[in-house]
Amino acid sequence: MVQETAVNTQFVGIAPFIYEAAPSRVVFGVGGLEKAPEEIDRLGAKRVLILTTPGRKKLGEELAARLGAKAAEVFSAAVMHVPAETAEAGRAEASGLQADCYIAIGGGSATGLAKAIAVVTGNPILAIPTTYSGSEMTPTWGLTERGIKKTMRDARARPKTAIYDPALTTSMPAALSATSGMNAIAHCVEALYSHEASPIVSLIAEEGIRALAKSLPVVVKEPSNMEARSLAFYGAWLGGTSLGAVSMALHHKLCHVLGGAFNLPHAETHTVLLPHATAYNAAAAPEAMKRIARALGLKGGADSAAQGLRDLESAMGTPLSLESIGMKREGLDHAAELAVKTPFYNPRKLTTEGLRTLLEDAFEGRPPRSWPV
Ligand code: NAD
Repeated sequence: MVQETAVNTQFVGIAPFIYEAAPSRVVFGVGGLEKAPEEIDRLGAKRVLILTTPGRKKLGEELAARLGAKAAEVFSAAVMHVPAETAEAGRAEASGLQADCYIAIGGGSATGLAKAIAVVTGNPILAIPTTYSGSEMTPTWGLTERGIKKTMRDARARPKTAIYDPALTTSMPAALSATSGMNAIAHCVEALYSHEASPIVSLIAEEGIRALAKSLPVVVKEPSNMEARSLAFYGAWLGGTSLGAVSMALHHKLCHVLGGAFNLPHAETHTVLLPHATAYNAAAAPEAMKRIARALGLKGGADSAAQGLRDLESAMGTPLSLESIGMKREGLDHAAELAVKTPFYNPRKLTTEGLRTLLEDAFEGRPPRSWPV
């Protein structure tokens, strides 16, 4: 006799997707910095140019001492948003030294400069991140010219190896830790409603939000808590992986516009805008909102995702208004126009009027509003 088994028809099928695995090597763990010499050898490098920001110069010099004769120079002129002239100076340095590999040690600014050089020469990058920006996992590189930041994708820009050493993040002040962490959460949030979303990237993104939401409040209170730092860096890696795997939407577009045209600080801009961009897209991306709410540990379900992000920020004492991070009200119209000028995917239709309202809310530091479908 055939036994009847109950078939559960109450499930959601898998929508079609394309997933491309990124070929990068990740070395994670406290003390990872010590592995830099052997990782350089794996890449076959003989003359390494170390790139960093002025703030991380000492760390760059310590690394150079560790690499010995293979370190050609420490170039510490990296700044945010990769101005074209900085990229040119870096390229000239790399060519003059005949460097065959670049180590970016520092935040996204250091990695950004290494990428701007590597896309021209094709030489490999070893990234040693010290913030949560996630740039080390992506093929995206940027350049800012005459107030416009352009971002492009190029496989040569993706670091071949990334060393995540949580010990390098304990020096990050609480304020930068919180905003840089929200930058990583933003990558996860937008990966969840990307038009290129896939089941595996969604798993990564949701886990990234969970790890960061759990660790960041502890990191802010106890910057040298290594367990919290490890969990936050793990979340940042997942954020970077999400960012590198799929295209982003409205939130990242607005951040590029504000960073490029108004030179606003990167991580803080992400922090202020994220709840507003999430709220704008909420009705059009209910599944993503459910995942965000779940990862934040919210009881309220999908509707609470945007406010949950804002509450996390409030609890950490991050900036909540564009005004507080240097934006001028006169720039809001121009920012909204710039954002709609270049078409890009977003789950909810974009209008200049809608974005102007969103930017006004963010400028004033209001809580995220509930947008109609
Ligand atoms: P950042 O690299 O400019 O660093 C901010 C400041 O913090 C700098 O002064 C730096 O010296 C300092 N700093 C870095 N690590 C520190 C540490 N551990 N302790 C103390 N101080 C430290 O900022 P960021 O937010 O990491 O990066 C922003 C840049 O990265 C922007 O240009 C952004 O566009 C780019 N980015 C690119 C991607 C991508 O995929 N291409 C992704 C994220 C960010």
